[in-house]
Amino acid sequence: MEAFIFYGPPGSGKDTQSRLLEKRKGFKVFVMGDVLRASKDPAVLDVLRRGELIAPEVIYDVAFKHLKDSFKNGSLKPSDKVVFNGILRSRKQMELIEKLFKELGIKIKKVVIFNLDDNLIVDRLKSRYMCPKCGRIYNIKTKPPKRGLVCDADGTKLIQRDDDINPKAIQKRIKLYHKNQKDITEHFKDQNKVVFVDASGGVEDVYKNLINALGV
Ligand SMILES: [Zn+2]
Repeated sequence: MEAFIFYGPPGSGKDTQSRLLEKRKGFKVFVMGDVLRASKDPAVLDVLRRGELIAPEVIYDVAFKHLKDSFKNGSLKPSDKVVFNGILRSRKQMELIEKLFKELGIKIKKVVIFNLDDNLIVDRLKSRYMCPKCGRIYNIKTKPPKRGLVCDADGTKLIQRDDDINPKAIQKRIKLYHKNQKDITEHFKDQNKVVFVDASGGVEDVYKNLINALGV
């Protein structure tokens, strides 16, 4: 199996682009947030609801079980190309994911970094909404809910998180994003796997950049 790992700031359209690759190019999509929610683990769901980060070790366990089950039940096949979204968040997590992939015989083909100017990141963070019930994330500009400001899955009224709109918290997140991006780039650069995609344009522009970068 070939893995294409997506990394980018919130609102860079990673999710939308994964879905396009799925629809148009037959990729499978693994979204860590969805897999965590589907695990139905009360402790995990509680952390998601509070909008906090899940510990890397928990990510490892949940992802491992999900991938193993998917291979067993045939929903993932060795010949598949799979986009992994929301799986790289820190150096520690990156190391665990590499270990996990090695154990499962998954080859990292490309690490795709979505680039967005800081002022655009701020802009898109301000358009982010979250479901307080299930933790799903929406973006009014890039991934709007289907019917007004309520969750597609459960109809709960969406809220904005304080750290999406508070200027100090935003600056902290941008700093953290750049630090992680640097770590990830340096780590995978030597393996010749990093590609950059300009994520500042509209959905189709970004898609064009993406398929050019991937050569698919
Ligand atoms: Zn919801």
